[in-house]
Amino acid sequence: MLTIKCAGCKNKVMKYKKIGKGKVLKCWESKIKKLYDIEIKNNELRCKNCGKIIGDVIIDNTGENHVNMDSKSFKYTGTKVNN
Ligand SMILES: [Zn+2]
Repeated sequence: MLTIKCAGCKNKVMKYKKIGKGKVLKCWESKIKKLYDIEIKNNELRCKNCGKIIGDVIIDNTGENHVNMDSKSFKYTGTKVNN
């Protein structure tokens, strides 16, 4: 499980179950286990503490909702799960 934090203020953003060793590019709704202090406005997921945009929220009616993550706006700790 990864704990994703805002790169600006280090506030926790979410707990995410990342499968595989690849980069964290998209966070799928079903694998987001917890959301912390965030705000979603105009389909942008922001850190509520400092307002930094962490990613774009994609509402996908034919697939799964997810967040396209901005790699420069977050850091994470924790471990990825092997397939
Ligand atoms: Zn922040």
